[in-house]
Amino acid sequence: MSSPQNTIAIVFDYDQTLSPNYMQDEVIFPTFGIDPKKFWTRCHELVKAQGYDNELAYMKALLDYLDIDRPTNARLRELGAGLQFFPGLPEMFDEFRTGLLTAEHEAHGIRVEHYIISSGLKALIEGSRIAPHVRAIFGCEFAEDRDGRITFPKRVISHTQKTQFLFRINKGLLEYTQDVNDHMPAELRPVPFEHMIYVGDGPTDVPCFTVVRQNGGHAIAVYNPADPARASFKKCYQLSTHADRVRHIAPADYRAGSHLRFLLEQMVGEVATRIVERRARDLEAGTIRAPKHAD
Ligand SMILES: [Mg+2]
Repeated sequence: MSSPQNTIAIVFDYDQTLSPNYMQDEVIFPTFGIDPKKFWTRCHELVKAQGYDNELAYMKALLDYLDIDRPTNARLRELGAGLQFFPGLPEMFDEFRTGLLTAEHEAHGIRVEHYIISSGLKALIEGSRIAPHVRAIFGCEFAEDRDGRITFPKRVISHTQKTQFLFRINKGLLEYTQDVNDHMPAELRPVPFEHMIYVGDGPTDVPCFTVVRQNGGHAIAVYNPADPARASFKKCYQLSTHADRVRHIAPADYRAGSHLRFLLEQMVGEVATRIVERRARDLEAGTIRAPKHAD
């Protein structure tokens, strides 16, 4: 039997997409007294001089700096409560719960789910005010030693590996025990790429932008309009104007009435209407049962 394929997924990057800052700067460095400049310089050295992957470099630097003060993952989740977001978050998720789909869409069982795929620390995002609104969070993770303190990296998600998690969402294989490479026919995949909207901020999101767009989904690059140097805007402008990686760019303002909200609402509305039309065709062809009405 085929999957109902009535789920629309909005997939977000985290740093600079949902938040104007890097999560380490916001909650880890002030808590543990780490000098941000020295920390990021150390990471840069590990990458340049020793050939580290960016994500492993920051995870190693963090363990080295914290040394005997290494916290538990539970402590990292507590710190996540202090994470800050762009305007309109997390309120947008509540507003979307009631105001995004029409009654007709809902009668067809259509729903919108949110996901986060980040190269930052999953434990911090899990403790944030956004976590209750998202179906799944994928991020880098530390194992714990016998005292419960963070130790060797358990999972690292680099920007090129982020695309694997799009396929997990596409196939509904959200648990790591499930093999994402298992073959699954298109009609069995719960979230077709055409039902996916990926929101990211820059070059590290290019692999995801590409996978989603090449498979018929939408991609939006967001920038921080408060950045006086406009570096963030220029990244997005480059991605859309010169590189054709994304068709849409918007300020990272998630409040009702913003350009970004218009884009998200329009995209979700169009996908939902396509789902209704497809179901109507299938119904006529006698391949599915009619949706149940309250009357
Ligand atoms: Mg980012």
